[in-house]
Parts: sequence; C-alpha cells; structure tokens
Amino acid sequence: MAGNQVPAFYRFKLGTLEATVVSDGQLDPVGAASDVFKGADKAQLDAALAANFLAPDKVFLEENILLLNTGERLVLFDTGMGAAKVFGPNTGRLLAMLQAAGVEPAAIDAVILTHAHPDHCWGLVDAAGKPVFANAQIFMPEADFTFWTDEAKLSHEQLGGMIDGARKSLLPHKDRMTFVKAGQEVLPGVQALATPGHTVGHTSYVVTSGNQALCFSGDVTHHHILSLQMPKLAFAFDSDPELGIATRVKTLDMLANDRLPILAYHFPWPGIGHVAKDGSGFRFVPTPMQMVAPA
Ligand SMILES: [Zn+2]
Repeated sequence: MAGNQVPAFYRFKLGTLEATVVSDGQLDPVGAASDVFKGADKAQLDAALAANFLAPDKVFLEENILLLNTGERLVLFDTGMGAAKVFGPNTGRLLAMLQAAGVEPAAIDAVILTHAHPDHCWGLVDAAGKPVFANAQIFMPEADFTFWTDEAKLSHEQLGGMIDGARKSLLPHKDRMTFVKAGQEVLPGVQALATPGHTVGHTSYVVTSGNQALCFSGDVTHHHILSLQMPKLAFAFDSDPELGIATRVKTLDMLANDRLPILAYHFPWPGIGHVAKDGSGFRFVPTPMQMVAPA
C-alpha cells in the first residue's frame, strides 16, 4: 500500500500551445450543499446530488490550475491555497505537482489571476510570505486588487481573514503587477472576459491557438452538477450574488452556443469539458483524455 496520492497533472495540446492542468488539491469540504448554495430548498439540492451519486452533507471542490507553455512563456492561471489550511488539509499541492510535471516555480514568466479569493491567489507566497514565482509578472483585475487589499476591511467580520490573506499575497507583488481590462489581449492568444459577481472584478480568460480555444472560467461555476443544473443558485462567497447569477447564466449560454470548452477550476479533475443546454439549465460534458506525443 502506497498510502498517498499520485501526482496530478494532465498535459494536452491546444493549437500550437502545450497546456497542463495541475492540481492544487481539494477544498475538503466547503460545507453541506445547503450551507454554500443559496436559492433552492435543501430537499431539492440533496435530490440533485443523490441523483448524481454525491453525498449532500459535504461538498468537495477541486482546484484545477492551468499552466500554458506558449513556446516563449510559461503562464500559470491561478495559484491555489498556498500554505494555508483554511479549507482542510488537502490543498496546497501546486508546487509539488509542478515539480512532478518538471516545472520550477522560478521558470514561470506570468501568473494570471481570475480573482483574489484564498483558493486562487494565496499560493503566490510561501508560509513565510515570500513570493513563490520570483520571476513572474502578475496579471489580475484591478477591481479585485483594490477590493481585497483594502486595509479598512481588515476588521470586517466576514471578510477580514480573506482581506488579510489577500494583502499578504498580493502586496509583495505590487511592483510587477499589471491590471487586466475587460476584452483585452493580456498576452498573445489570451483574452480577458469580464465575469463579475462572484467577486467585483472576477475575470475569465479565453485562450486561443489556431482553430482551438479554451475558457479558463474560474469561479463562474463552482459545482459540476448544482451550478449547471440550477445556474440561478447563489454561492455563499459571492460578493454580489445577483450579478454572479446573471454572469453565470450569460457565460454558460455563450459557452453552450459557441461550443467553447472550459477548464472549470472547481470541477472534478481535470475539469475540462463542454457545457450543454439541458432543460432549464445546463450540464457538463467531460472531454476524453488526449494523448500527447513528443514533438
Ligand atoms: Zn474558488
């Protein structure tokens, strides 16, 4: 018996780019479904989970990080929880998984953030508060930087801890930070897509190469069943639940209509698939594994 998990990284081609999904682990758990998803009866949530062979009492969310090798740059999308164990013992695996995938943190040229929540940006620094990706330019939405580093919110009952962590993660990078604007080409082939609501500046990114594209959709969705079947559920950590719902419905519609695949940050590993319309909601259709031959 080995008694431990194997490294979780998965490599695939996207046009001429090489992409790797790298796991930071699993938020373990975030609570019962009815604690974190708002807007439906407990019985309705429990039934949807039971129908999909999932327990209602504990919702597990994974952390699927995207690493892109463009041939010129190594680009990381989001960074996981870092050393903090706020969401249980099974997070903070990014650096070990990157190492298993043959990538040194110092080789990362750019880190692109969807938003400034713990499970997306706290991995920018180590337990001592030292920047992990020492040579990377950091790209993120300005609205999230401003909101989550606001000193005045440190004493806020619900947000204080997240503000403190965001300040410790983001402020050391202030001098190599670039703010992304909606619609902007952040790096060649990487376009920012404003998807606000979960946080004030939440941003998704569409990566395009040749005739292939992939949307790194961050927290537009949280759960592969509930967020799609019932897209009008709010999530407990949404900054603006109403706007989050409008954005989710609009984005899922676009993904389904355009047949644009997503890498969903919190879906079951590795989180790559399509969104299809299904009744009054949507469903997630995972993409089969792609074999990659050496060039
Ligand atoms: Zn998240």
